[in-house]
Parts: sequence; structure tokens; C-alpha cells
Amino acid sequence: MKIAVYPGSFDPITNGHIDIIKRSLLVFDKLIVAVNDNPHPLKPYLFNIKERLEMVKEALSSYQEVEIESFKGLLVDYIKKKRARFVIRGLRALSDFEYEFQMYLMNKRLNPDLEMIYFMTNQKYSHLSSSIIKEIARLGGKTKNFVPPFVEQMLHKKFANLTPI
Ligand code: ADP
Repeated sequence: MKIAVYPGSFDPITNGHIDIIKRSLLVFDKLIVAVNDNPHPLKPYLFNIKERLEMVKEALSSYQEVEIESFKGLLVDYIKKKRARFVIRGLRALSDFEYEFQMYLMNKRLNPDLEMIYFMTNQKYSHLSSSIIKEIARLGGKTKNFVPPFVEQMLHKKFANLTPI
């Protein structure tokens, strides 16, 4: 059975992430969606780990081949613990490449057995990121076409009492 891990912040999960998950399942029998529970010094999360997990679980409830959990600490340690070898990531623009390449090289140094596999973004979602979705929602815009309905509700709730500035 071929197992892969798809790690990410998923703050929140978007249709772009879901597209990567669907396409990964064409190659792998099982996918572990691993929600990052490490604090990020430069990128504070909008949603806490419980909320991010809840949104991922709701969005992927119809996928039997997907397991969802959070992870803390280094990705390479988590992969080892799960006895997995393959890590999925998505690539949109050149700016993604720079970051992903650096992460690939470092992870490979830390665990030479690990293989990272990159899916090119679907053209439909090439402009889509969790950050831009949060920005649209914060300014009162509609996110309907970019995130699952439950995520849309969660964003709405989060920003309901916030006056756009
Ligand atoms: P992280 O903070 O680990 O980058 P994200 O949730 O932002 O977590 O992204 C997880 C992975 O999904 C990354 O590899 C990112 O490039 C990819 N990704 C996010 N949005 C898209 C998209 N619209 N198309 C393709 N890949 C995407």
C-alpha cells in the first residue's frame, strides 16, 4: 500500500489544496493530511489547530482514503513516526519554487530516504492561497468559489464583528 503525507498549515483549507489531494489519490492508496501545529514566527495562524482540523475533516469527509491529523515538530520526524516515505507538496508560482526547493534540500539532508513529490497547481487555482482568501474575507468579499461551504461559514464567523479598515 502506497502512503503519502500532505503537510501544510491549511489556514484555512482551500479548493486548491483539495485539488492537490484528489490528484495525489490517483497515485497513492492512502493520504495522510498533516495539519501543522507548530507556531510560525512570521505567519501567525488565523484559525487555531482545532478549527483548522475541523475544516479539513469537514472538507474531506467523503474521502475514505484520507486520514487527517495534526503534527508538531519536524516534518522528517513525523514522517518517520508514520512509517511513510513520500511527501506531497503543491507548486504554484516561481515564488513557491524557491521556498519548496530549500525545504526539499534540507529535508533530504535530514532524511535521505524521504521523497518529496510536487504537483503543479491546477490552472483554475493557480492564484489561490489561504492568505489571499483570508484577505478577501477580512475585507468583506465572497469566498464561495474558492473554499468549501463550511470554510466559508467559518471565515464569515471569524470576521463578522470586524469592520474593514
Ligand atoms: P505551508 O504553510 O506548509 O506552506 P499551506 O497550507 O500554505 O502550508 O500549503 C500547503 C501546500 O499546498 C504547499 O505545498 C502549497 O504550495 C500548496 N498549495 C496551497 N495552495 C495551492 C494551490 N492553490 N495550488 C497548488 N498548491 C497549493
